[in-house]
Amino acid sequence: MTTYDHWISGSTFPGESDRFGDVFDPATGSVDSQVRLATAADVDAAVLAARRAFETWSETSIMTRTRILFAFRQLLVEHEDELAAVISAEHGKTLGDAKGEVVRGREVVEFACGISQLLKGEFNDQVSGGVDSHSFRQPLGVVAGITPFNFPIMVPLWMHPVAIACGNTFILKPSERVPGASALVARLYAEAGLPDGVFNVVHGDKVAVDAILDHADIDAVSFVGSTPIAKYVHERASLTGKRVQALGGAKNHAVVMPDADLDYAADHIVAAGYGSAGQRCMAISAVIAVGPVADTLVDKIRERTIDLKVGPGTGEDVEMGPVVTAASRQRVIDYVGQGEDAGAKVVVDGRDLVVEGHRDGFFVGPTLIDHVTTDMNVYTDEIFGPVLTVLRVPSMDAALELISANPYGNGTAVFTSSGEVARTFQRKVPVGMIGINIPVPVPMAFHSFGGWKDSLFGDHHIHGPEGVRFYTRAKVVTTRWPHVSEDSLAAMNFPTAQ
Ligand code: NAD
Repeated sequence: MTTYDHWISGSTFPGESDRFGDVFDPATGSVDSQVRLATAADVDAAVLAARRAFETWSETSIMTRTRILFAFRQLLVEHEDELAAVISAEHGKTLGDAKGEVVRGREVVEFACGISQLLKGEFNDQVSGGVDSHSFRQPLGVVAGITPFNFPIMVPLWMHPVAIACGNTFILKPSERVPGASALVARLYAEAGLPDGVFNVVHGDKVAVDAILDHADIDAVSFVGSTPIAKYVHERASLTGKRVQALGGAKNHAVVMPDADLDYAADHIVAAGYGSAGQRCMAISAVIAVGPVADTLVDKIRERTIDLKVGPGTGEDVEMGPVVTAASRQRVIDYVGQGEDAGAKVVVDGRDLVVEGHRDGFFVGPTLIDHVTTDMNVYTDEIFGPVLTVLRVPSMDAALELISANPYGNGTAVFTSSGEVARTFQRKVPVGMIGINIPVPVPMAFHSFGGWKDSLFGDHHIHGPEGVRFYTRAKVVTTRWPHVSEDSLAAMNFPTAQ
């Protein structure tokens, strides 16, 4: 059985903890490896290594930093299959889906390779007689990333390439359920020539997280995970004066207008609701059927849902894998029961699904629930499993009202053939990422990713231009090279432009 150790200063680091977490293969239910759960002293060791490395890394030329990122990017290409395999084995998602996240994560490295353009400052000539002014940005120091289980490589890649390109050193605390991809990424960085201590991995649970949040020598924390933990991270890390961005959970609505192409909408809603077994923060979980389309739409979604092939992520033609743990499976089953008891209609029921040959796997079939109302907990709670709920409203205004009343604001989509409807929707809806006939509108690496309301605590969205701003701070320099004359004599009054 593999044991995942931490990675500090360019090599594996067992640390002093005798606590371990089990890492499951969700398709079989078996424990295939273990991960060390760090103590506060292990976090200290990582911070010390990162602080030492910062002294030289922050002085390393922008071109050297960029070349290492180019080499790292190439290694991600060469190891794509290996990365996808470890992700699928620990998370359960299909190999194709895992490769998709490797590619989307790699695009952030490609963005970070352009850091020489992104870090350009601004210059004003002659702001006063003989005086110029310029601004530039510098790295923060040691920064940490705390990440969720559902994108074992992509979410960490939203953070560390940008932070490192900006000249920071990085400590990653990945989800203890999926440690394998981060262990491999650490080795690839080393192979790319990244100096020891610039990228470190500390595995662990709440003990490691709290040690990071409280550490006086960590300058910033990026967090992605569920809303209660995001809020906690934001509050606790702020207490020690850190810069914090904490991305939380979601309830993403897809509005289907009467003028939409219903076959197109149904195809895309099924993919967005059940892809990755619904365990994406941008998964569609609530479909809002507007006006007369509901019965036909539900029928079309049902037809497609019953045909989905569920099985192990490595299985041929498998479209949906298991959920991540036995507890997640039970949670999903319980929610469906509670929805039914509250009066919703279970149109497709995945609760009893058994995948032959994988009886102990954490499988639950795709489930479709109609006639859901906003007071039911299948609607109010983030289920984070393969469950699509359908709510029926009379108009676009009612749909907008419903989404606005929801505490989350991560992603949303509208299916329509009307430009006017689309424009109104994108302007009025209080949500950070919006799809027009695109159900999972995850921004490309050169834009920034972030929700509104309870889906993000902090000022900055992640990666893209906002990532560069988050991982740097600005200086403004006002310069004069005087030759002594009447004009350059010091004045006691507050200086104004001459
Ligand atoms: P989680 O909140 O349980 O865990 C996230 C991280 O926090 C992990 O590293 C975990 O070790 C740590 N953690 C867990 N409990 C903690 C505690 N009590 N104290 C301190 N640290 C703790 O999330 P998860 O189950 O791994 O991931 C799923 C959640 O992440 C969903 O809610 C999903 O919507 C969200 N998510 C959001 C985004 C986004 O961009 N907004 C992206 C991916 C996932």
